[in-house]
Amino acid sequence: MKSKKKKNKVTMMSDCIFCKIIKGELPSAKVYEDDDILAFLDIGPVHKGHTLVIPKEHHETILDIPDELLQKQITIVKKLTKAVKTAVKADGITIGQSNYKYGGQVVPHIHFHIMPRFKDDGLKLWPQGEYEEGEMETIKEKIIESI
Ligand code: 5GP
Ligand code: ZN
Repeated sequence: MKSKKKKNKVTMMSDCIFCKIIKGELPSAKVYEDDDILAFLDIGPVHKGHTLVIPKEHHETILDIPDELLQKQITIVKKLTKAVKTAVKADGITIGQSNYKYGGQVVPHIHFHIMPRFKDDGLKLWPQGEYEEGEMETIKEKIIESI
């Protein structure tokens, strides 16, 4: 007899904080859960309501996660952006997603940050540099060649 495909197959890493949250080994303030995606409040919020959205399968970065799962994840990010904005009466929302140690990723299990923002909250998330003459064109071409 053909075995039935398990609907909510999950791949986890035993030493990953977020996998432990998924397994219930660590507590979290969950705001959303389905077969593939979990969302919970960040323990160190930029502002109250700061929410993390993760896949239940362990994938480290945006380059590792399968496209189909990433699409599910970003759909939930959008859904929860609306809920978080309403719940904490935010004036704006910043979405954040870091990859690799030097990209600022601390927890190596892909996650999106939904960060409530407020008028005059004074947060500037990154500095703005500038290009030398012709440099923008060179870099633009290198990126296009790399696609
Ligand atoms: P990253 O710097 O990797 O983009 O973000 C990791 C985030 O996970 C941080 O904002 C941090 O506050 C949050 N975080 C780390 N450990 C825990 C935890 O055990 N529980 C919760 N809810 N958030 C955590
Ligand atoms: Zn994990």
